[in-house]
Amino acid sequence: MRRILIFLLSALLVFSMTACVHAETAKVMTSFYPMYIFALNVFGGIDAIEIDCMTAPETGCLHDYQLLVGDMMKLSDAAALIVCGAGMENYLPDVQEQFPELAVIDCSQGIDLLTEEDEDGDGELNAHTWLDARNAVKIVETIAEYGCQLFPEFADQICANALAYTERLNALDEHLREELAPVQGKAIVTFHDAFPYFANAYGLEIAAVISEEHEETLSPAQLSQVIETVRQAGNPPLFTEPQYSAVAAYAVSAETGAPIYTLDPLVSGAYEKDAYETGMQQNAEALLEAFK
Ligand SMILES: [Zn+2]
Repeated sequence: MRRILIFLLSALLVFSMTACVHAETAKVMTSFYPMYIFALNVFGGIDAIEIDCMTAPETGCLHDYQLLVGDMMKLSDAAALIVCGAGMENYLPDVQEQFPELAVIDCSQGIDLLTEEDEDGDGELNAHTWLDARNAVKIVETIAEYGCQLFPEFADQICANALAYTERLNALDEHLREELAPVQGKAIVTFHDAFPYFANAYGLEIAAVISEEHEETLSPAQLSQVIETVRQAGNPPLFTEPQYSAVAAYAVSAETGAPIYTLDPLVSGAYEKDAYETGMQQNAEALLEAFK
């Protein structure tokens, strides 16, 4: 009787351990919203892989983002962290020191990165790569390539997902090019330095950037400098961003008469697979409206 009981108990133990292994899902963290949307498409339909976003949607761009204790907790049981790279996640060295085993997927690889001069005249990488749909294709391919290495058992599904999504992204890119052909060479003023890749890809010229550093308020000297640049550029439309205060843009508009529209750097939004495509399309429509 006792033997049978021991057998039953150990069988139960083995069974529950197996059940545990099967029930376990691997967690893939993404640093912020655009990477989350791309990962959602690459790993879609794979129940064993859970995609999570490290920052809340209202965080926006990660410039100067400080890691919170909660972020470290989320990373502690993650299989991988997907980052934009090119300096967007400047906390990365801390993460790698804390979790040397964590696979970090850097989505800036293979992308022709743009540099801009900072206040001291040093070249600094611009990290807003995803706003060119062809770069989005490269990002998705990077996620898929590393995803297949990390989860070979799901490689077929990952490849199929990535292929379907990149086809949609290529179609989006072609569509945007056609749609934006009438505004080729037009000057715009943007709120922060998020749009050089977009402007390069779709033929716009950024005449000025209102706030380089995401400051909500500009000093009077900074403000008059922006106003002067906008005047010299012939008062092109100003584009605010949904994630940031538009106070400075309204001040510039009041002085110059330049009209105000919205461009979305797509650093927040709906947690939907097609959110990137919808957002890019809305940006194109805002530009066409501004130059109607
Ligand atoms: Zn930014």
